[in-house]
Amino acid sequence: MSDNDDVPFNRDFPLKPGIVEEVRPGVRRVLCNNPSPFTFTGTVSYIVGNGNVAIIDPGPDDAAHAAALLDAVRGETVSHIFVTHTHHDHSPAVPKIKAATGATVYAEGPHRASREVHLGEAPRLDASADFDFRPDVRLADGDVVAGTGWTLEAVTTPGHTKNHMAFAFREADAMFIGDHVMGWSTTIVAPPDGSMQDYMASLDKLTRRSERLYLPGHGAIIRDAPKYVTQYIAHRQGRENSILARLAKGAADIPTLVRAIYIGIDPRLIGAAGLSVFAHLEDLVARGRVACDGEPSLTATYRLAGERLGS
Ligand SMILES: [Zn+2]
Repeated sequence: MSDNDDVPFNRDFPLKPGIVEEVRPGVRRVLCNNPSPFTFTGTVSYIVGNGNVAIIDPGPDDAAHAAALLDAVRGETVSHIFVTHTHHDHSPAVPKIKAATGATVYAEGPHRASREVHLGEAPRLDASADFDFRPDVRLADGDVVAGTGWTLEAVTTPGHTKNHMAFAFREADAMFIGDHVMGWSTTIVAPPDGSMQDYMASLDKLTRRSERLYLPGHGAIIRDAPKYVTQYIAHRQGRENSILARLAKGAADIPTLVRAIYIGIDPRLIGAAGLSVFAHLEDLVARGRVACDGEPSLTATYRLAGERLGS
């Protein structure tokens, strides 16, 4: 949903599926052939180390991708699998790769919603979650896991999902950032799976870190990460300001807000845009800036706090 030009999005990513490419000493990547409006050219799996290696985000349940990953590490020992989060384009290949390698699986935890699911509220984008995933080892913020030639620090980054975790790669001044920050687009935050309040807090957390490079789950490497994160935050604040500006003209529902804010959007992304606006509205209601009748929901009508409906 890159409708604004305030973030320097980069869609130049010529990597072909199944090709193993070394992007940094000790970091290889393999692209899965699962392109979509949500995954860009597909999921990027990473291999960390040489000889004794870790795999980060084995990807979707895709036989060709699993075979490409296992081919890439032929003759090597895969001791660790790390998972950034449990969307179906990142984690379902874990059992296959674990069975083939005997690696131990590390992640924040199983998939779960960011907040209580309200009565009568269907879990949104439910089909996108891998509810079967269970890590062998649950990691907490700041936990450090080391292998041969690599050290990864767990950095909890909830928001896109409750269990989203980035991994700082200490030897390379880099971070495997999952879907929390992407170079080609903004990240989808869809309640109740995701939470805008958590998401913004996790972006803010990144501003206090110094890693220069982000290695995302989709698309190219982000090279000036600290600057990019501040632009990403500004973009979200801009989106929030657009919502507040529209509500200043009168109460509105989510389809009305989407039409007002996402000009020229890819029609396939309108549902996701509605969820993103919903995520902002939940956050604004929690902060007392916006009001609605009852719990914030996809069908509610929203107004600036302190104003009567219809005024
Ligand atoms: Zn995701």
